Amino acid sequence: MSTKPLLYDYPIDLEEEKKVILREYKALLRALKDRIKKGDRKTLRTAFEMSVDAHKEMRRKSGEPYILHPLAVARIVVEEIGLGVTSACCALLHDTVEDTEITLDDIEMEFGTPYAKIIDGLTKMSHVVDMNANTSMQAENFRKILLTLAEDPRVILIKIADRLHNMRTLGSMARHKQLKIASETSFIYAPLAHRLGLYEIKTELEDLSLKYTRPDIYLDIVRQLNETKRDRNKYIKDFIKPIVEELEDNDLKFDIYGRPKSIYSIYNKMRSKGVTFDEVYDLFAIRVIIDTPPEIEKASCWKAYSLVTNAYQPNPDRLRDWISLPKSNGYEALHTTVMGPGGRWVEVQIRSKKMDEIAEKGLAAHWKYKEGSQTESKLDAWLKHIGEVLNNPDIETIDFVEDFKLDLFTKEIYVYTPKGEMRVLPLGATALDFAFDVHTELGARCIGAKVNYKLVPISHILKSGDQIEIITSSKQKPNEDWLNFVFTGKAKSGIKYFLKEEKRKIALEGKELLFRKLKNQGINIDNTDYMQEIANFFKLLSPLDLYHAVATHKIDIRILKNFEVVGGKYIFPKEEKVTESKVDSSEIIDVKSGNVHKDAELIIFGESSDKIQYKLAPCCQPIPGDDVFGYISTSEGLKIHRTDCPNAAQLMANFSHRIVKTKWAVNKEISFLTGIKLIGMDDVGIIQGMTNIITSEMKLNMRSIGLDSKDGIFEGTIMVFVKDIKELDKLCNKLAALPGIHKVERIESI
Ligand code: MN
Repeated sequence: MSTKPLLYDYPIDLEEEKKVILREYKALLRALKDRIKKGDRKTLRTAFEMSVDAHKEMRRKSGEPYILHPLAVARIVVEEIGLGVTSACCALLHDTVEDTEITLDDIEMEFGTPYAKIIDGLTKMSHVVDMNANTSMQAENFRKILLTLAEDPRVILIKIADRLHNMRTLGSMARHKQLKIASETSFIYAPLAHRLGLYEIKTELEDLSLKYTRPDIYLDIVRQLNETKRDRNKYIKDFIKPIVEELEDNDLKFDIYGRPKSIYSIYNKMRSKGVTFDEVYDLFAIRVIIDTPPEIEKASCWKAYSLVTNAYQPNPDRLRDWISLPKSNGYEALHTTVMGPGGRWVEVQIRSKKMDEIAEKGLAAHWKYKEGSQTESKLDAWLKHIGEVLNNPDIETIDFVEDFKLDLFTKEIYVYTPKGEMRVLPLGATALDFAFDVHTELGARCIGAKVNYKLVPISHILKSGDQIEIITSSKQKPNEDWLNFVFTGKAKSGIKYFLKEEKRKIALEGKELLFRKLKNQGINIDNTDYMQEIANFFKLLSPLDLYHAVATHKIDIRILKNFEVVGGKYIFPKEEKVTESKVDSSEIIDVKSGNVHKDAELIIFGESSDKIQYKLAPCCQPIPGDDVFGYISTSEGLKIHRTDCPNAAQLMANFSHRIVKTKWAVNKEISFLTGIKLIGMDDVGIIQGMTNIITSEMKLNMRSIGLDSKDGIFEGTIMVFVKDIKELDKLCNKLAALPGIHKVERIESI
């Protein structure tokens, strides 16, 4: 959870450095001890020496010799993911082809093709990841990551280890890089680690990401966890005592301990439930690990379950049985919530030692327990599915990323075909999703379904245990509305594919029509790039959109006649252009007018600090004092978002080239609109009390006030203009002190 400290302070003398490097290498060998076979030692040594030599002139931002990074990655790969010698060697070499003189051929000659393939995968990935690429390239990059995963999961596992080490040592990077890397981590790598069942790593990635995107919140939760630690430990001790007795009396071999929830998950709970730290009741879970032979592990876990529930009353709605039906990433355990001392609900997780290892180390542990495991085949099926989807060249990459991400985060249901074959779908999936899951053609022709023998519409939402029969018609074809109720990436991409085919047919007519007109006006129609420019003029995304718009008469191409033609091209009226700026550069940005704050000042770091124009993002309504960044949108110029805006991670990860660093200038004249939510007892005097504080005491400008009361409780929303976050905090504190007010908080996103 904490950033690992550097091994020592830099710079120091070179002899000392050599010793440190050797010590780290020996630690790697020790970690691999049980897995080293004949000849492995030599291969490892060669990889190590090759990497040392290749990186010998390089240092990390912290001042450390660069080689310590690949060494650390190799150790994570072995110790925390559970991979073996080949992966360790590849981890040692993971940055060589990318950053040094060494070529892929060198690797191939020295180590053979399998190594070269893995290194090639790693090089390609980092190449695209690190670029300030545009959106579609970022999406393409994500697709590549997944494609690699389907080919050889080791590539992605080493990449995750690489990212983990970079996150652990992120402290020495510049702030804007920290933000970009941290956002990318929570956007792509943490979900991937989760999907692969690497729970420990996923948790650490999320915590570290929060630490850099919201340091204030992160440190606050850490502090509160520390402050409450003693009480919590005492409670855990008292709680497990009767369970320990039961388990011992029944001769089970076990390990039991209390485990704090991750900082990120606490933060998420506070945010999603709108509660304070003190109100998060499940700050920890109890884990019971049963040491039992694999043949009887299920029975042992159920036995432990019944003993736990002898000691405490379980909540029957909160039993999660992932032993009979493991999660698709391989996770197996029994989770139950019981009533502990003092009327507190406590979650107890029960699993065997083997299940525990799979839970902590994920994929690699699967390989170890390969024989006859059902979860193994599920994971294989998942990898195969990804391969199929990715290899379909007709799927738009960006859509794919969005659609796929949905699949990464959701919970699952288990449903059945008429023949009794089980299929796993995300919670929220509809009958149509099921049809697409079985076969794209079945989805495209679907007109209805029978769920448990009852006729339902295609938008019917499925539940675990449902048996579904799809009804089709040869006349059916997908339409745009379907996208509103399907849930899975597979169905979405299937529908979009059909729609696109339709569109393509229509566009073909439009293209003919347009080309005839253009030819008459002496425009060079062989220049396909130029069609994009015409599309841009009409504010359309692509030539295909242009042709389609022509065919469906959405645009009027007659206006093109008004423009002069020079050299086979129109002379379009000049538009002021938004300057696209890279993360590192700082330019003055000239923004097309609109209702922008013309008088507000915002400083862009770097040499220039000229006044610029911007808009505050409506999704998060930042005010001075908030941690913010600028995003250059194509249509509306510079937009300022809060770094904890719900859209921030996505923007920073996908559009890094359009992110500019921004900070607030000291400004006392301008006020910013913000929203406050209040909850309290319904009382006649309360509105007057609130308006008194706002208008008389603090002399603030109020835009609107909305109240909603029910059963003696009211919920109010006040929109008010404040100068900065200090003023907002002061206002919130004053309002919270009013008698009858229970809670006052800023509206997170509007
Ligand atoms: Mn690296």
